[in-house]
Amino acid sequence: MGIEPILTYVRTLLTRTVQKDDMVVDATVGNGHDTVFLAKLVGENGKVYGFDIQAQAIEQTMKRLRTENIAGPVQLFQTGHEHVASYLSAENDGQLAAAIFNLGYLPKGDKAIVTKPKTTITAIEQLLPLLKVGGILVLVVYHGHEGGAEERDALLEYVSSLDQEFFHVLQYAFLNQRNHPPFVLAIEKRKNVS
Ligand code: SAM
Repeated sequence: MGIEPILTYVRTLLTRTVQKDDMVVDATVGNGHDTVFLAKLVGENGKVYGFDIQAQAIEQTMKRLRTENIAGPVQLFQTGHEHVASYLSAENDGQLAAAIFNLGYLPKGDKAIVTKPKTTITAIEQLLPLLKVGGILVLVVYHGHEGGAEERDALLEYVSSLDQEFFHVLQYAFLNQRNHPPFVLAIEKRKNVS
């Protein structure tokens, strides 16, 4: 196998990590592609919690789930991922297998509605305690739009500061592609922070 494209690599990471019956989070459901992918990985008895601030995204995702005949494992919330801790309580600490973020704007949607550095980092801070050891948080960082560079820089600073005793942090990026290619950040939990 050659070098995997960004989105294929994301799916490889998720497929390697997520098992049947797991609990996972799609922090930016958008058009629902990752939600469906995760729902298939966890199966009927798993749990997928999906978040998006836009009604259009929630509707699109519900439509995609219906088309795929998926119901059981998915719960969608029209709210910001920065509130994830209110939906997945501390009882779930150490139970989450994976979380995925696709940053930026909704494809075919309103390009002015984008993820923001502060809320993205707040969500990551709330998700890290929930991750199980060996669990993974994946971010696809799109940074070509207005505000994208600020979010990229804030994220790189934040994830670089995570203690290597507890987290592996990976950046997967093509360095010679034109027009602000997206890249992946992946945070794998090595051990629980006591
Ligand atoms: N994964 C999606 C797919 O498969 O189509 C694409 C996601 S799109 C790049 C980014 C999404 O993040 C948009 O739908 C946008 O509404 C959403 N978003 C922006 N700010 C958010 C927030 N604070 N919490 C949750 N979702 C947010």
